[in-house]
Amino acid sequence: MDIVTAIQGLSNDVATLGKDLARVKEFAIIRLFSVNDSDLEHFAQGWSKSFLDADDGLERAEMVAKGFTVDLNKPLVFQVGHLGEAYEEWVHIPIVSKEGPRFFASDILEFFTKTKWWVVPLVWLPFICWLVSVSLQRGLLPPHAALALAGGVLIWTLLEYTLHRFLFHMKTRSYWGNTLHYLLHGCHHKHPLDKLRLVFPPVAAAILSIPVWTTFRLLSTPCVAPALFGGALLGYVMYDCTHYYLHHGKPSSGATQNLKRYHLNHHFKVQSMGFGITSPLWDKVFRTFPEPKAAERSR
Ligand SMILES: [Zn+2]
Ligand SMILES: [Zn+2]
Ligand SMILES: [Zn+2]
Repeated sequence: MDIVTAIQGLSNDVATLGKDLARVKEFAIIRLFSVNDSDLEHFAQGWSKSFLDADDGLERAEMVAKGFTVDLNKPLVFQVGHLGEAYEEWVHIPIVSKEGPRFFASDILEFFTKTKWWVVPLVWLPFICWLVSVSLQRGLLPPHAALALAGGVLIWTLLEYTLHRFLFHMKTRSYWGNTLHYLLHGCHHKHPLDKLRLVFPPVAAAILSIPVWTTFRLLSTPCVAPALFGGALLGYVMYDCTHYYLHHGKPSSGATQNLKRYHLNHHFKVQSMGFGITSPLWDKVFRTFPEPKAAERSR
């Protein structure tokens, strides 16, 4: 059985069996532990285990069932706000379907929510080159430009961690709070296999980058700022491409396999840990790196 069938089956069970938790769990074990999609098996089991271990299993089961009262056949973005307090839990129960959902009724808005991964380097790499050239024109020496670029990448890794931990995982319950959260990061947790809702649309990334640019301009010199900003953007491009690769690539080496396991753990086991994508550096510094044992115990 593949995982999509398994999870869809599980939600049907919950819907039909309702409060009979013992039977829901029994069915869940049969379904989720018979997944034989080798890539997904590992986290399907982790996810089902945390589901089964939870003391509030019944509540969780009800949430799964409740989640499906959001009409998945209608555009989602203006619906999720209505979930209120329940949104936070709903958005973290993934729908493991490769088919992407409809976000908006309007075709134009819908178009802007879908981004192919290669659009990210295509749009941003030439802009980064231009930024470096501006720094050079303003008199920055090439070795110093290289240093500024590398410094920008390092600053990005910290930004990647803080944005993901504090902005993308901000707890929301108001209508517009939920709606914005869903557009920003919630949709990726709800539909982790949607290939077109994974990397940031360039327009959204550009808006988010404005405060970063402003800060760099205030804290560095006019000739350093563009190269430093270029470095942060380069870090961002590496982040988005790596994130896409971790979801849809087939890592063969030990290091990338570990990185994939570490990120899938964030999705399917412990969503309050593992915020780094390109490296676990800051998770280790701020003690949010999920140790294998801790990951087994908590959710
Ligand atoms: Zn996340
Ligand atoms: Zn979250
Ligand atoms: Zn992800």
